[in-house]
This record gives sequence, structure tokens and C-alpha cells, in this order.
Amino acid sequence: MPLVVEQLPLGQIGTNCYLVRADRSSPEAVVVDPGADATTIRLTLARSGARCAGILLTHCHYDHFGALADLAEGTGAPVWLPEGDEPVFRDPDTYFGGYGIRVPPYTGEATLVGDGDTLDAGGISFAVTAVPGHSPGHVAYYADGCLFSGDVLFAGAVGRVDLPGGDWDTLLDSIRRLGDAYPPETRVLSGHGPETTLGAELARNPFLSELRAER
Ligand SMILES: [Zn+2]
Repeated sequence: MPLVVEQLPLGQIGTNCYLVRADRSSPEAVVVDPGADATTIRLTLARSGARCAGILLTHCHYDHFGALADLAEGTGAPVWLPEGDEPVFRDPDTYFGGYGIRVPPYTGEATLVGDGDTLDAGGISFAVTAVPGHSPGHVAYYADGCLFSGDVLFAGAVGRVDLPGGDWDTLLDSIRRLGDAYPPETRVLSGHGPETTLGAELARNPFLSELRAER
């Protein structure tokens, strides 16, 4: 049975948070990127009759983890953080202070993940791929035909590389490796905007002409 994925745009720039269940009857859900508004996330979970069984973070940008501390504390759910970006979750001011953005630090327990790891949460097995370029420690989570790509790849766009630790060639290489690792029909559930597929982006995304030339 395919995963049940609910997209929940949250916060000032409508960053996508995802609620993921193994199937419709599952009493557990995994939350990917709780960017803002823990109350809305918890109400939405309650409406579907699911409790929060795990919280996964793709990368350290404030609009993806603004509700992490609240949601983790309020639900007691285990947390998985990308190891390369961990310092920012612990002390956001070092990264965002200069931008005048305040995000609550996450001080609780977490399992750190990196390239090649797998994790089990909510009855779902997720594979972790390191996809640096937008942020240095960015990871993507793959489960059952769904790729939670954070801010690496969008429908018709790619992640910006002008924030600290960003790099264009690194980003392009990350997308190249996703294309090599997963089939074209893979659903891409990204941090902003609508769902797409890996194949559609590799075929038509205007930022990926370099990759098409190689194929
Ligand atoms: Zn980002």
C-alpha cells in the first residue's frame, strides 16, 4: 500500500511540512520539517487519528524547524537530525542572528543521520541520502516511492545557494546522485511548492540543463 502523505504549508513563507503515515489506518504519523505552528500540526494529526511517532528534519533553515522544539516537547516523539547541520538546530543564533531571525533552539535528544543511514519510524523505513549544496548538512529521506527533498529540488526550480554553506556545483552533484539512485517515477515532496517527480524535473527543470547534457 502506498504511503499516505499530507502536505501542510506553514509559516510566513508557506514552507511544506509533511505528515506521513504507512497507510490510512495507521495510528502513527511521521512529521517531516515542522517549520512553524506546532498547534496546527498537532490538530491535523489529531484529526487523522494519528499520534506523532517521529520528527525528521531535512536541513537547518529556520522555516523548516521553527516548531521543532515545541512539537518534540509536546509529543515526546523521537527526533532525527542531519548530522552536518546539527550545530544550527542547537544554537540557531550563530547562523541566523545576523539575519534578525529568532528560532527556538532544540535542546532535546536526537539521533543524527547521514548518507547511507536508514531509520524506522511510524512503521515506515526511511533511507537517508546526503544532498549538500543548499545547506552543508542537508539530507533527503526516501520511503516507498516518496522522496522528501527539502530545499534541494522543487517543481521547476532548485534550492538557492547564496545562504551560508551553499554551493552550486555541490547542489547539482546532489541532484545528479538522486537521479542515479531513484527511478524517474519517484514522487518528489519538496520544501516549497507542489509535488513533482524526479523524472519530470530531470527532463524539464530549467536549472538542470547541465545534467540533461550528460545523459
Ligand atoms: Zn532551506
